Amino acid sequence: MSDCLFCKIISGQIPSARVYEDNEIFAFLDIGPCRPGHTLVVPKLHVPTLFELPPDRAPALVAALQRIGKAVMEATGATGLNVIQNNFEDAGQTVFHAHWHLIPRHKDDGVKMWPQGSYPDAAAMQAMTESIVSRLR
Ligand code: 5GP
Ligand code: ZN
Repeated sequence: MSDCLFCKIISGQIPSARVYEDNEIFAFLDIGPCRPGHTLVVPKLHVPTLFELPPDRAPALVAALQRIGKAVMEATGATGLNVIQNNFEDAGQTVFHAHWHLIPRHKDDGVKMWPQGSYPDAAAMQAMTESIVSRLR
């Protein structure tokens, strides 16, 4: 995709701090890191969100997340790792070429991922369960 930022990074048109590349995957440091070592893992195939990624690409992606995630943890001395992937603007997606964030974490590093909510009662939780399950039949 000629006007896609991450396609331009993958092709080398735009420079990046590349940490890994193979036939399917490109990974580089996020320019605005949540924590030092915050890395983006990107399928080379241009797909806007998770939903367009062909499932047969998943093994290469998961292998890269594991391998690069381990390297990021070791390089930063992290004792935890968040793997985060935003889909659509309302979930915070700003670059519409699907990508996975690897964020190294340390005890008491001050990062808060999301406020925890609750269901009003057990019936509401059950209704939500059924609503999702009915769409998976
Ligand atoms: P999103 O919000 O779409 O899940 O994540 C996009 C990420 O891309 C952001 O964390 C942002 O800091 C990063 N980003 C945006 N532009 C660039 C860039 O030109 N180079 C690099 N390395 N990261 C970028
Ligand atoms: Zn792209």
